[in-house]
Amino acid sequence: MSVFDHPEFDHHEAVHFFDDPATGLKAIIAIHSTALGPAAGGCRFWQYEAAGDAVTDVLRLSRGMTYKNAVAGLPFGGGKAVILRDPEFGKSPELFRAFGRAVNSIGGRYVTAEDVGVSVDDMRNVQTETPYVSGLPQSGDSAAGGDPSPWTALGVYLGLEAAVRARLDRDSVAGLKVAVQGVGHVGHELCKLLHENGAELFIADVSRDHLKSTHEAVPATEVSPRDILFADVDVLAPCALGNVLNSQSIPKLKASVIAGAANNQLSVESDGDLLIERNILYAPDYVINAGGIISVAREYFEEGSETEVRADVNRIPERLTEIFRESEASGRATNRIADDIAKRIVAAGKPDTRQIA
Ligand code: NAD
Repeated sequence: MSVFDHPEFDHHEAVHFFDDPATGLKAIIAIHSTALGPAAGGCRFWQYEAAGDAVTDVLRLSRGMTYKNAVAGLPFGGGKAVILRDPEFGKSPELFRAFGRAVNSIGGRYVTAEDVGVSVDDMRNVQTETPYVSGLPQSGDSAAGGDPSPWTALGVYLGLEAAVRARLDRDSVAGLKVAVQGVGHVGHELCKLLHENGAELFIADVSRDHLKSTHEAVPATEVSPRDILFADVDVLAPCALGNVLNSQSIPKLKASVIAGAANNQLSVESDGDLLIERNILYAPDYVINAGGIISVAREYFEEGSETEVRADVNRIPERLTEIFRESEASGRATNRIADDIAKRIVAAGKPDTRQIA
């Protein structure tokens, strides 16, 4: 099948394939849109069952980045990179340097940063080959920069509070049961914020190491990865991978609020309608998880410090509350409302700092 016929192909401006036998790099960089600025989005390092799955992932994720950056009011278009993990080669500085050369060859139309499986150290290796990279160590104590994950976690936490206010009419998460699927970079930080604010935690992960470090940081009940989505909780926070909300899983959910960091939580757009039918409030993933890219943008454009990043992240709940209100009034799915807002901003061709019309 040609990439043009792929069901997830959405008039992406470019899809680049890279193969470097010396380092084992096999990567795809998809540029969905540069209408609002250079296409920005993280790099995912993942072992895909088939190369076709990587194509699907990068096409969906890059479109999501266009929408995320637009709704967050950032001067960025949308792009994404995936590196296909090859167990024979594993992860090495040479691999990320080769990836840096790949990014550089696109000449600045794509800006990379961390995503699943990629660390600040990996980005430092990328930086040896290209300036089109962010998510690097902070240049000063309070400068914007560093690992974007804590900012993503803060935005998700604030957005989760907004969703709880909207659906459960509660001013705080104190006493609420929250299930967190995936306690990696973002999930772990989110658990700390939820615990500090009095939530009761239920966690699952496929990594024993990640579970151990979260258990060391906060009290939490462990649930098997198979059961976490269906835990008897108030709030579900998907913080692992995408496609967790679909026609099979949605009928079995018990939470009445879904607010988590994972990208592409819905398998298809109409899964948002199924959530509405079940009276489950869904915080659109790319609106609630924009904290990291907000930090990346301030760092990349050298505009402002942590104080400004915090102020921008603090606006995430406002945007969500508008979307929740519109959904309540119209009965339309929250993801459809968010997509409409994003498409409007992209069509206007300039970043809209007001976001909500
Ligand atoms: P991560 O790799 O650090 O953490 C993901 C965690 O999920 C890992 O601990 C992994 O073992 C676990 N996991 C994988 N499959 C699982 C399963 N079936 N059940 C339970 N746990 C499972 O990644 P991250 O940076 O924390 O990102 C998490 C999600 O949030 C991803 O979807 C990512 O795209 C999205 N996101 C991250 C950021 C960021 O700033 N890091 C920003 C926006 C969106």
